[in-house]
Amino acid sequence: MRRKTGSDSLFIYTAHVNAEIVAIGSELLTPFRQDTNSLYLTEKLNQLGISVIFKVIVGDSLQQLTTAAAQAMARAELVIFMGGLGPTEDDLTREAVAASLGLPLRRDMSIVSALEKRFAERGWKMAPNNHKQADVIAGAAVLPNANGTAPGQWIAGRYDGAEKIVLLLPGPPHELKALFEEQCWPRLKAKIPEQHIATRVLKIAMMGESQCDARVAPIYKQFEDVETTILAGAGEIQLHLKTKAASLEQASARLNELVDKLEEELQDFVFSDNGDSLEQIVGYYLQMRNATLAVAESCTGGLLAERITSIGGSSRYFLGGAVVYSNELKTEFADVPAELIEMHGAVSKQVAVALAEGIRKRCRASFGIGITGVAGPTGGTPEKPVGLVFHALAGERGTEVVEKRFGGDRNRIRWFASQQALDMVRRKLM
Ligand code: ATP
Ligand code: MG
Repeated sequence: MRRKTGSDSLFIYTAHVNAEIVAIGSELLTPFRQDTNSLYLTEKLNQLGISVIFKVIVGDSLQQLTTAAAQAMARAELVIFMGGLGPTEDDLTREAVAASLGLPLRRDMSIVSALEKRFAERGWKMAPNNHKQADVIAGAAVLPNANGTAPGQWIAGRYDGAEKIVLLLPGPPHELKALFEEQCWPRLKAKIPEQHIATRVLKIAMMGESQCDARVAPIYKQFEDVETTILAGAGEIQLHLKTKAASLEQASARLNELVDKLEEELQDFVFSDNGDSLEQIVGYYLQMRNATLAVAESCTGGLLAERITSIGGSSRYFLGGAVVYSNELKTEFADVPAELIEMHGAVSKQVAVALAEGIRKRCRASFGIGITGVAGPTGGTPEKPVGLVFHALAGERGTEVVEKRFGGDRNRIRWFASQQALDMVRRKLM
């Protein structure tokens, strides 16, 4: 959305200034060089409330470059080209951008003399091809480059009926940074009204991605001004929410509105809306109840204990436990009767319950967790396939057990199992 005020050259964007970054250089298309400039620029632009909607990397080819430039100009209000401003044959950015804007290049004699002076100061003679670094797109403001020979260019005008800002910046990172900070930042700040970006992350436990999306899509579709991204992992979905407004309070209020609606829909599946991890939340709850926890892990091999103890201060509620991979140790360390394992097999509801109850007693904890399952890739049977896991949570008032069949590889199954166990504690104490 754009609103024009007064003359053609003075226009003010009212919302949604989107940017495209075009990184230029054939070396950036090899396995040896990476476009890092765009990461720096994206961070800076976001601070100005400008979203980057497209990034392109293009080699030193006039034809490819001209096409990329025309496409970028059609997509974004702010287009930043960087690299290819050097004096050599393959530095074609000026020509390509001029062509795609339909504007001529003019040789700026003050740049020529500045270049000559720069060379003379170093006792060098300027090569004739350096002259082309003095070529400026008609109507562009020249942005002097204190750290190199190629000046940047700032073009603000109408392109195909829409207001655009086009920037040409040098490729070397130290030149680009200095030039952007000193000359582009203040210009952009003056041109674009202050915008603030607020972000929130909603975390959801043990819900399928499509199931989650089916429930939340009708809600976030009512908030067109909020960008919603769903990131799904094993047993955890994160909804990343982002919006812009004239003030941070306004942007945050808008996100709160959406978060309230999403939490109302997803209820107790949501475990965090402020960045906290599931192991942190479990820690809070256990401390709040003055409760303690012990674990007996088979197929997770200590992963659950590792996650719980990754939280500073977990010694206040986590007592410890045992990794009981063999049947003998299930009996020895968690008091699981050998006959029970004999009768039902190590991967069974009964053994999970016995693990949880046994370790709870042994450690004198308020809660005990038992996990047993088939993590794969081998060891599955038709009755007990890879991915089958039993999770038990024993407390003062009895034991609950959950059977799951997780998909994925060994790591994913083990992570799922630890997530399920943590979520059972969370739900118990909520
Ligand atoms: P000059 O030729 O005057 O140095 P230039 O604008 O033509 O300036 P390039 O030749 O394209 O710049 O790049 C110069 C150096 O900067 C190279 O080492 C290149 O790898 C690096 N560079 C260019 N673009 C990027 C980028 N997007 N991210 C990181 N490094 C870059
Ligand atoms: Mg180059």
